[in-house]
Amino acid sequence: MINKIFKNRYFIPAIQFFTLVVFVLLIYGAIGVFTNDPAFAKILRNTNLSNLIVWSYWWPLIIVTAVLFGRFWCTICPMELITSFFGKIGAKRKPGKILRSGWVITLFYAIILVIGIHTFAIHRIPEYMALYMIMLFAVAVISGLIYEKRTFCTHICPVGHLLGLYSLMSSKQLRVIDPDLCKNCKTKDCISEANHYKFTGRSCTSGLYPANISDNRTCILCGQCFKSCTKDNIAVKKRRIAADLFKKINLTWAETGFFMMVSGFVVYEVLSEWKVSKKIVVAVPNWINQSLNITGKTAGTVKALVLFVVIPLIFYTVLAAVKKTAARETWNASFTQLALAVLPITASMHLLKALLKTTSRIPYWKFVFSDPNGVKTATMLMNHSAVLDKSALNFLSPVISLFAVLLPAGGLILSFLIIKKQQHKNGISRAVSLFAALIYGCMFLYALIAWRIF
Ligand code: SF4
Ligand code: SF4
Repeated sequence: MINKIFKNRYFIPAIQFFTLVVFVLLIYGAIGVFTNDPAFAKILRNTNLSNLIVWSYWWPLIIVTAVLFGRFWCTICPMELITSFFGKIGAKRKPGKILRSGWVITLFYAIILVIGIHTFAIHRIPEYMALYMIMLFAVAVISGLIYEKRTFCTHICPVGHLLGLYSLMSSKQLRVIDPDLCKNCKTKDCISEANHYKFTGRSCTSGLYPANISDNRTCILCGQCFKSCTKDNIAVKKRRIAADLFKKINLTWAETGFFMMVSGFVVYEVLSEWKVSKKIVVAVPNWINQSLNITGKTAGTVKALVLFVVIPLIFYTVLAAVKKTAARETWNASFTQLALAVLPITASMHLLKALLKTTSRIPYWKFVFSDPNGVKTATMLMNHSAVLDKSALNFLSPVISLFAVLLPAGGLILSFLIIKKQQHKNGISRAVSLFAALIYGCMFLYALIAWRIF
């Protein structure tokens, strides 16, 4: 069925157009909804319909689809439609070295995480969220007008590396059906320049040659090559879970840097669900903020920098240094092996966070249709003239607890299997990867069992 959908000329543009309309409506629903009060913002983020959909459903769904199915989110993302349209009428400049390095994606994500979320609370203040979405839209338009093809999707989109790395876990892959057919193919319609700017049936504007795709990171599953290939030689196939991680993969430095940040983010997001582990996780940034007398928005910036940049950098650099010294590996090989070793644990914990977030917001759905703006409901909840009905959460609690144990355990087992398969130069190098996975995975497992079971 997936292959049929990809081959249909109008199906994917129609879905993208639909998601574009939804995108605009979400902005409309959040514009003008603002508060300066952090306590009120904590409630308002769930009572404003747009904010609730974007951060508690849209965003978690992106993570879930990437881990389970690959970059299917990119298939329906309205930004692809927008940037491809402006790419057609724009200046078509080739992206420079900096864009091609992947660091723009990493930096863009870091700015959103540290400045956007943890300094200005774009995830809690609907108007800021709307401005963030408008900014994304503007970047997609401007980059489309300047650069060729869909440079935004390939070299700028702030979640590009996240989706690429998590799609390594997926049980689906897009590949050519018969590589020999490609070898003998004279027309090569899938990469032909003449097809770059067609509305549908474009050749690959992510710069890929389908016959050479070796892992899931870069193909955004736009489905265009399905329609451009005149030999009908492309398909989405099933494969074993995380098949890419059992092969040799080289991460770029930009991807490694991105992964370290996500790894710190996931530790904070999952462990801060339980007040005991939260206290431990935020101890260092809180101590720094108190010692330097930093308060307000800047305290959030410091906290994010410490948790998502400094601590992960120290953790991975120390372990990579041991691997490099003991096994005479390159820095890049050491970091790559460590990142890929703990990727399944990180992805499984991100899935858990998505589950916790989407389920915990269920009680708010009772209010959002009668008051989509959310200010009235948030005021009532704040002064206790309305209360949340948490019976659904109590009902779901045992299921969530089960996932809270199974997901880290599953991630840890997968990590062990990947480390066993990785080509290590010697036993010490493998032992360090195992140690990293063990420390990292057991930290989640212990905290989640203690929180949910005892
Ligand atoms: S994917 Fe299709 S168009 Fe591209 S080289 Fe192979 S057979 Fe030819
Ligand atoms: S290979 Fe290129 S054109 Fe084909 S689905 Fe992937 S990104 Fe799209």
